[in-house]
Amino acid sequence: MNNIVINSEQLNNVLENKPISYSEALEIFQDAKKDPFELFSAAQNLRKKFKGRNVTFSKKAFFNIINLCRDTCTYCTYKAEPAEKKISLMSKQEINQMISLAKKYRCVEALFVTGERPEERYQEAKDWLKRNGFSSTAEYLTHASEWALEQGLFPHTNAGNLTLNEMRDLQKTNVSMGLMLENSSERLSQKGMPHYFAPSKNPKERLEVLENSGKLKIPMTTGILIGIGETPAEIIQSIFAIKQLHDKYGNIQEVILQNFQPKSDTQMRNFPSAEENYFKIIVAMSRVILPEMNIQIPPNLSPKSYQDFLSIGINDWGGISPLTPDYVNPEFSWPEIKNIDKNSKQGGFELKCRFPIYPEFFSFISKELRDKIALIENEERLVREDYWR
Ligand code: SF4
Repeated sequence: MNNIVINSEQLNNVLENKPISYSEALEIFQDAKKDPFELFSAAQNLRKKFKGRNVTFSKKAFFNIINLCRDTCTYCTYKAEPAEKKISLMSKQEINQMISLAKKYRCVEALFVTGERPEERYQEAKDWLKRNGFSSTAEYLTHASEWALEQGLFPHTNAGNLTLNEMRDLQKTNVSMGLMLENSSERLSQKGMPHYFAPSKNPKERLEVLENSGKLKIPMTTGILIGIGETPAEIIQSIFAIKQLHDKYGNIQEVILQNFQPKSDTQMRNFPSAEENYFKIIVAMSRVILPEMNIQIPPNLSPKSYQDFLSIGINDWGGISPLTPDYVNPEFSWPEIKNIDKNSKQGGFELKCRFPIYPEFFSFISKELRDKIALIENEERLVREDYWR
């Protein structure tokens, strides 16, 4: 693959560290639709240059704190209604039990997930929070994060559009946070589109929260959902929107590329899954537009072919839990860590466990958090093998 001659002028520019414009990216995309070989080769080259042969993951426990949600995205199966069996309202006791179990399994990350401001739509959520002594989901999350950190897990919260002050509070205990951009196109919020009943997914709102994370210097995970009715131009614009934020604040630590999979209990149940070749082209395009970024795909959403993605630009498998299901995609179980390890090796890569914050961003966090990481960190600033294996 190294000695391959690439004819595309734009791709050769990228390989020579020259930034790429939006219109050049679109041209690369159009060429790749006819034949993706050159794009994939360039992406692999860049991946090797900036990320070497390591592929990382985060050993996590998924805390499904409150899955009521103010919004409704037509593809979402995570959100519950109060009367549904799948509702989750994790009490302090349940959170602490899960923390103990996660420690037993030597997890590193406590992933705290909630729906968008449940208390704004559901009296049940408001009352439940009140009974537990909290006025908001965000306030509850700051406490849950403290409990996890005290026990040696590293919190990473993904709770939708938090305010600047809420993020400032969570920043004390969370080594990083997450908010999917999904897509930067307002068209997807129009009537009949997936985000019409989800005001929090309006790209202006999302970009503002991501801007705030930049102002606060929070290592931030964001990403794009691919295959929900967007155009290729909208996807490429979305990758550029992330690039712009990162160029301005330098705090985007990783980009998740998630391929849409229809869920049987959602309005989009008959919508086709993201077409695999299209998804692969977007993955490689992301590497070309963001050559040094940490790029992740969740392996459970491409169970038959996830190892192929190593050769087109990704360098991370995201959070993999040995003990909790993927509540966002419950029908796709996470592959076992030992299988990912084996498949990564077969592809010529070495699987390493990272913290929920990438080493390049350690300077962003407080000394207190940094000292806790040092307790189980190796010389590569990743998690010590004897801890996670
Ligand atoms: S995807 Fe998130 S914001 Fe949309 S309905 Fe589901 S939980 Fe709510």
